[in-house]
Amino acid sequence: MRALTISAHGGLERLEVRSDLPIPELCAPTDVRVRIQDAALNHLDLFVVDGLPGVTITPPWIMGGDGAGIVDAVGSDVRDVAVGDRVMINPGISDRTCEYCLAGEQSLCVRYKLLGEHLPGTIAEYVVVPAANLRTIPAGIPWDAAAAFSLATLTAWRMVVTRAAVREGETVLIWGIGGGVAVAVLQIAKMQGARVWVTSGSDAKLERARALGADETFNHNRQDVAREVRARTGKRGADVVIDNVGQATWAQSLLALGKRGRLVTCGATTGPIVETDLRRMFWNQWTLMGSTMGNDREYDAVVAAFRAGKLLPPLDSVYDLDDSVAAFQRLASGEQFGKIVVRVGREK
Ligand SMILES: [Zn+2]
Repeated sequence: MRALTISAHGGLERLEVRSDLPIPELCAPTDVRVRIQDAALNHLDLFVVDGLPGVTITPPWIMGGDGAGIVDAVGSDVRDVAVGDRVMINPGISDRTCEYCLAGEQSLCVRYKLLGEHLPGTIAEYVVVPAANLRTIPAGIPWDAAAAFSLATLTAWRMVVTRAAVREGETVLIWGIGGGVAVAVLQIAKMQGARVWVTSGSDAKLERARALGADETFNHNRQDVAREVRARTGKRGADVVIDNVGQATWAQSLLALGKRGRLVTCGATTGPIVETDLRRMFWNQWTLMGSTMGNDREYDAVVAAFRAGKLLPPLDSVYDLDDSVAAFQRLASGEQFGKIVVRVGREK
């Protein structure tokens, strides 16, 4: 089969489309093989090319976490999906036996794995995943939207709804609008009735964000974001800050955070080590939270919204598998707004 692979870590020149890979076999009676139609990229994929501490790849390693396609084969214990079903994939694979899984918190699994990072990825003609990671999608929803949906929307849902528990009328500040998670946070926070303020270094991205419902926008290259937030909230600050940028924005995030504020992070693209003044943390009674991916209940919630035509991810661009290295170049450029899709198959 054909797939986008790497055989060593390094720059994007390591990416290679191969056509000589074996079609993967089912390993467990609960496994399902999916014939991928579209796959989609996440920032994580760049870290995989680069190499992540403690993660070892077996060459040729198949890239990609997000995907959607048609069920091609099912194990003997699979009940919820059948050959021919249209499905999308939750890229977070849990063992379903540890104490966190048994408590319904699959993204805390002690053996949690992600497609494309710890397991063969989705930018391939076929992928094998547990049936529990699949949800059927109605005919009529385009493959590209289904492929682009899961990782970013699930991650954003847990951050906004479960962890920060954003309520109607609260002010939510999102750094760096344009990436998949940030855009999904914007959509979900608006759905919760929040006032949503976003930042970007690009006026064009801020324009796109306003079209998606952003109430206030700040160009962080020209504006002092924390000062603007405090000025526009009568010095009170934001109720919730979503910061996936890390080192470059942490200090500003805390300056923008109001009393009883909640800060949620699910990434650190500019660096992982930050400084926090504990006196401001306790005096203002802040909650600083981490979040990653989401549990089955949260996946069901976002899939229900998706089936109802809500939270459809804005798409930046679509590339054929043969041009998928260009898709990664687009991702690395940081110029995208919304999801980058790789077209793998054609529905027959
Ligand atoms: Zn587990």
